[in-house]
Amino acid sequence: MDKFHVICTVCPLSCEVQLDIDPNTQDVKKVSYNRCPKGKDYAIKEFIAPERTLTTTVPITGGIHPLVPVRTDRPIPKPLLHDAMKLTAQVRLTAPVKMGDVVIENILDTGANLVTTRNM
Ligand code: SF4
Repeated sequence: MDKFHVICTVCPLSCEVQLDIDPNTQDVKKVSYNRCPKGKDYAIKEFIAPERTLTTTVPITGGIHPLVPVRTDRPIPKPLLHDAMKLTAQVRLTAPVKMGDVVIENILDTGANLVTTRNM
């Protein structure tokens, strides 16, 4: 049986959850060391389809700072983060912007929008 370890980030206890994986089918056979059911769900999702929220900054003209923070409004598949960053690197904004303004709609067809996270 293969072992897959992941630190659960759902709460501050940070359990190190272990999955036992069938090497032939890649099926999850057993989940251990999670202190609650949320850790089981988190670890299985991390193994099957990990997702992350993209957070970064983009240049803005006419604001009180040269950069404004942005993030996706929901997690996107981890393998798409690099391409999403490349798209985000092309963005140039002009003040004023409001927190929650959509900068890129449905980024990479993920269903997530890239939005500003502050007014400027
Ligand atoms: S498994 Fe449960 S208790 Fe452990 S870090 Fe995850 S959410 Fe917290």
